[in-house]
Amino acid sequence: MSTRPLPPKVGNAVAELNRRRLNDLQSRQRATTILTPEAMQGGKHSPARLLWTTLRGEARPITQADLVAFRKSVAAVGGKLQAGITAQEVIDLSTPADRERARREIPHAIPARLRAGEVVFSVSAGPESRVNRHMVTILFPGYGAALSRPGTALQAAAWLGQQGHLKLDCDCERHRYFYRFLSSIGGFNAGRAEPGFPKIRNPHLRGLCCKHVVRVASELKSGMFTRRQIAGMIEADRQRLEAPRRVKPQVILVRQQQAAQGVTVKPRAIRTTDDAHRSAVLAGVRRALATRGAGDARADVAATLSALQARTDVSAGAILQALQRVLQQPAGS
Ligand SMILES: [Zn+2]
Repeated sequence: MSTRPLPPKVGNAVAELNRRRLNDLQSRQRATTILTPEAMQGGKHSPARLLWTTLRGEARPITQADLVAFRKSVAAVGGKLQAGITAQEVIDLSTPADRERARREIPHAIPARLRAGEVVFSVSAGPESRVNRHMVTILFPGYGAALSRPGTALQAAAWLGQQGHLKLDCDCERHRYFYRFLSSIGGFNAGRAEPGFPKIRNPHLRGLCCKHVVRVASELKSGMFTRRQIAGMIEADRQRLEAPRRVKPQVILVRQQQAAQGVTVKPRAIRTTDDAHRSAVLAGVRRALATRGAGDARADVAATLSALQARTDVSAGAILQALQRVLQQPAGS
């Protein structure tokens, strides 16, 4: 039996994050192969023709047709994302590979420092990583609404984590090279904006965020430790608004001992909306088979099957397969 690894260090998260951000900024300022928004416009003398892309496979110099394709992706993706993004959407829109890495490689995401609607998480680093933790920053643009919302601080924290829109940033290289451009054009980037198109790493603009952010999203949705810390921040800010002489927002620092006590034995499940629909239907079928005559339940299953056969989406397909397996079992088993 494997035991869950210890949570990452939570101390000095912001100091280390600031150092990493400074390094990132300096190396960005030295970079000479950025595809800038101006170069994206194309034309005879566009500096873009000196750059390379991996669009459609092999690395090769960028053509005018590539620039047209890039601009189309930016318009499509930007338009879709600008409405704001929730924790569930972070999970739903990330690639299956990033979700799988989050499940297997990233056991913990612990809020380390909270202040006025901004939470810095200390997150486990993957097994191949050169560092022992990553810092994910989450900003809630709707934090003011959570403060004013009727109800307890814990209820407001649940609402914020489950339905609140997020801005996000991670200090890892995947976020930096694959996803920072995406979160910048979508308007949900919480770190420095990235105007350079990811022409080599992610020219199709696939996915949404790294495994660290996916793990944080699962904690925001349903992690009780995270929810209690956010409730503490809401409570402090509500009190501050009632006490006019207190001007500065309170900084909440989580101690290592609290973090160790706050983590659950098993990592939280990372479930997409599709996964949730599928298991709800299967649980319903199991209940029906357990509580009613097998003949009746099989009739219900058969009726559901014929309704689902008309649908073409992925959830319907998966549910269909599961139900067919149920039907193939002998009656009464
Ligand atoms: Zn990351």
